[in-house]
Amino acid sequence: MIKRHSHETESNENDRLTDFLLQQHLIERIQNHCQEYLQQASHIEEAFRDNDKILRCIDDRCPGGMHGAGSLILLPFEEAVATCQDMGVKAITSHVDCGAAAKYIKEHSLNPAEIEIIAMEYAKKLASAVNVPYAGHLSVVGSHAARVAYYDGTGRFDFSKLPEELPIGFSIDRAHLKPEYAVNTEARIAAQIMTSDHGYGQLITSDNPFIFVTIGDASRELPFEQLQDELKAGLGDFRDRIKIVGFEAGEIVADLK
Ligand SMILES: [Zn+2]
Repeated sequence: MIKRHSHETESNENDRLTDFLLQQHLIERIQNHCQEYLQQASHIEEAFRDNDKILRCIDDRCPGGMHGAGSLILLPFEEAVATCQDMGVKAITSHVDCGAAAKYIKEHSLNPAEIEIIAMEYAKKLASAVNVPYAGHLSVVGSHAARVAYYDGTGRFDFSKLPEELPIGFSIDRAHLKPEYAVNTEARIAAQIMTSDHGYGQLITSDNPFIFVTIGDASRELPFEQLQDELKAGLGDFRDRIKIVGFEAGEIVADLK
């Protein structure tokens, strides 16, 4: 039995290494030449086009639309409602195996066995308060695969529009969130998950850090340099296990309006 268990562990570890290396070619480009790489990506503007405005988690397995951790479950409820209104969300989802819902349960001493029902009930209550439909409990496929988190000052970036060129990532909507919450709650959750055994754990090192891609919109007074400074100040304890890079997208977004 012990032997069989160790074989299973070994094959899981090999699977995780395969997942980790799958997008290595994209990661190296974005890590070393972020601005140049994204600037020359064909049809990068597609990643900024209008979306379905359905609120989803920041989780890398819930791409598309608008984003908030656990559909904003960690914000005070009235602030979550106001943020949804500001985002113009048209529907609200929850999802299976949500790290933000797990954090909420811990903070409120609720029963971890009820995580799915708690995530669903919260999203339904939020949808009702915002007066939009609840759009369902999304299933997710496999483990977290993100090597990056997008910290987006435009509020419209969607990596999944260009799957050949943009790595899978967490999506943090800094355009619609206060910096303290965006950094200390959402960006921190992404870094915590991916440096833990729920993510890539010890595969994340100073040579292969977890990458935050800040996406600036200088026309809204959110240049990427400012976003980088926010993250640097708030995530100092991750030190060399994260790297922060930047892309200025203001001109692209302005052209789409
Ligand atoms: Zn989630």
